[in-house]
Amino acid sequence: MSTDKSKPYIPLAGGADDGWSQEHEATATCYCGGIQLAFPTQGPGLVDTFLCHCTDCRKITASMFASNFIVVDSHLRHLRGRENLKSYSQSRTIGSGKSMTNFFCSTCGSLMYRVGEAFPGHSILRIGTVDDFNLHETRLRPRIEQYAKDRVGWLHGIEGFEQVQGSAYRPKSSI
Ligand SMILES: [Zn+2]
Ligand SMILES: [Zn+2]
Repeated sequence: MSTDKSKPYIPLAGGADDGWSQEHEATATCYCGGIQLAFPTQGPGLVDTFLCHCTDCRKITASMFASNFIVVDSHLRHLRGRENLKSYSQSRTIGSGKSMTNFFCSTCGSLMYRVGEAFPGHSILRIGTVDDFNLHETRLRPRIEQYAKDRVGWLHGIEGFEQVQGSAYRPKSSI
């Protein structure tokens, strides 16, 4: 782990080693490397960062919570592999009751982002796919923990993160 968090730190993680991190933009790459996105690392393109403990996020991440950041679609670039994305949507376990479409790498299964019908014009990316690991701790450090009511009992609220019992975002608001 590098100590200077202001400099990019891109460890080998998965099949690609061509991720990059610049002043205003950085990459997110799937596990096999076939899909690579570029996203803004500050506003207005970068809207917010949050953890979600909801039952849906636990299932879809095959883990205990999702670590997310919200990007305005006009600021999101597909660098490669867009044709290799597969999508799956449903609304049954989505807090808004509206459908959420998930975009996966069809080779390695990495969930790259989700798009909610209730939040048009935005994509929810995954902090864990971001190649510069120092961004996980700086500009992408989560600000909010939502659906804290669904958090697994052996985890506790993180100090300094705003705790929200349900959804932190109102559908069709300017999130
Ligand atoms: Zn992949
Ligand atoms: Zn969730």
